[in-house]
Amino acid sequence: MIAGNWKMNCDTVATEKLLKSLIAALPAEPKADVVVCPPFTSLETAGRLLKDSPISLGAQNMSEKEGGAYTGEVSSSMLLTVGTSFCILGHSERRQYYGETDELVNVKAQRALQAGLKPIICVGETLEDRESGQTEKVLGKQLDGALKGFSADDLKKSVIAYEPVWAIGTGKTATPEMAQAVHRFIRERISGIDKDAAENLPILYGGSMKPGNAKELLAQPDIDGGMIGGAALKADDFVAIINAV
Ligand code: PEP
Repeated sequence: MIAGNWKMNCDTVATEKLLKSLIAALPAEPKADVVVCPPFTSLETAGRLLKDSPISLGAQNMSEKEGGAYTGEVSSSMLLTVGTSFCILGHSERRQYYGETDELVNVKAQRALQAGLKPIICVGETLEDRESGQTEKVLGKQLDGALKGFSADDLKKSVIAYEPVWAIGTGKTATPEMAQAVHRFIRERISGIDKDAAENLPILYGGSMKPGNAKELLAQPDIDGGMIGGAALKADDFVAIINAV
């Protein structure tokens, strides 16, 4: 799976332009499941444009509430009405700037699953965590918290994205060996819930993945795809990454 996280980029006009270029450049049968995650205001436009394409639509966040008096929030059922089938949850930017905790990510993930949306749950360590030897401890805590109460069936409908915070938007990428070791750790940790579901769970790598480094990362046995930020905003780069699968 290759998922594009557009972050707070692309109004409806830019969304239409980028998706038209993407659809034109994408092979008829892409080698990966392709997902794009535009901002909320562009989801409806994207949903219409992607209707007969092989590209699925994802949101970047959602409310943990079902509906009602929660000013500024967007619910899972609202996302479904515009053709969204995935939702990124717990991105490090949400954790860092909006105080999202593992507990909140867990409630949102349960809500997404109940509604029929597939959560793409993000985890990742900071540079400080890595340099102080805390990577596995931090990731273990994030995974246990975000996946609390998950059944094997829930895992079958979920995706994990390993995104080292120090690699996001910095141009620094984890080496393929470094990323593989963490992906293996994640899969083993999740096998505590269900071994088969953990073996089949898509675990994406995210953090400055580009056409030049995608192939080596994607060749690792436990790296099942990529979450792409900056390079997802350029149709040619995004397609080159998809073609590297
Ligand atoms: C991201 O924010 O999910 C991401 C992977 O960003 P970038 O590719 O720009 O590092």
